[in-house]
Order: sequence, then structure tokens, then C-alpha cells
Amino acid sequence: MATRKILQDPHPTLRKTAEQIRDFSDPRLASLIQEMKETMTANDGWGLAAPQVNESLALFVIAKEIAPGGHAVFINPKIISASKDTEVEEEGCLSFEGRYSEITRSSRVEIEAQDEHGKKFSATGTGVLARAFLHEADHLNGILFIDHLHEF
Ligand code: ZN
Repeated sequence: MATRKILQDPHPTLRKTAEQIRDFSDPRLASLIQEMKETMTANDGWGLAAPQVNESLALFVIAKEIAPGGHAVFINPKIISASKDTEVEEEGCLSFEGRYSEITRSSRVEIEAQDEHGKKFSATGTGVLARAFLHEADHLNGILFIDHLHEF
């Protein structure tokens, strides 16, 4: 298995806005996706964003257990809508080992993205999947889950 090292907070790459991916035929993209999936699985994550493995690219992967319609790869994703209804759940991040906090997130989220071949698709997530969409899309904008804490 080829796994990548996961950056731990603080790291400058975790705070950068990720670049859009335009070349879907680049073999480095396919190997990055494969390595990200293996890294996420090896670390029991629900999702992993490219900046977490020090690649400032607009790409995240989602665990196949929660992947909607088989879509586990989200490239150049855009959150289309997020419900006003929210849920509070404990949330963690592979870039914050051992840290969990209760975070309020929309309970229903619509997302548009491209798959590993560049084909556009849209998906709707509720509950843990909506949370994963928002958490991972945040990573691509340099936003981390601790930024949503407002108790302090
Ligand atoms: Zn994270």
C-alpha cells in the first residue's frame, strides 16, 4: 500500500486555497487519488482532502461506506446548497489527531463535482455525509473544523 503522510495542524498548506484541477489525463492525478484512498482507509477516516497530504489541489475522497451512488472522488467541488436545518455532532479530522469537538453543520447538503475522469455529477448528502461534504470542501478553502468552534 502506498500511503501518504498526513499533515498535522498547524501547517501552511492546510490554510491555502486549493487550485482547481484541469488536466484529468495526468497520471499523477490517478496515483494521488489512489494514495489518498489508501491513506484515508489506513487511518479509518470518513474523508480526506488533498491539502492534508500536502497537495494544494481541489480534490477530496470520501469513504466508500458513505459514498453517494458510488461517488467517492470529488474534484473541483462546489457546495450548491446547505440546509438551514442543522445538527450538532462530534467531529474529528485526520490533521488533528485525537481531537474531537461538537460542531454544528447543515443536515442536508447538495454538492456538484467532477469525478476522476472529469465527468460532472451532483449528489445530495444528509447527516454524516452532509457533514463530510462540508468538512472536506472547507479544507479546499483553507478552513479547518476548529474554525467552526464558537464556544471559546
Ligand atoms: Zn479534516
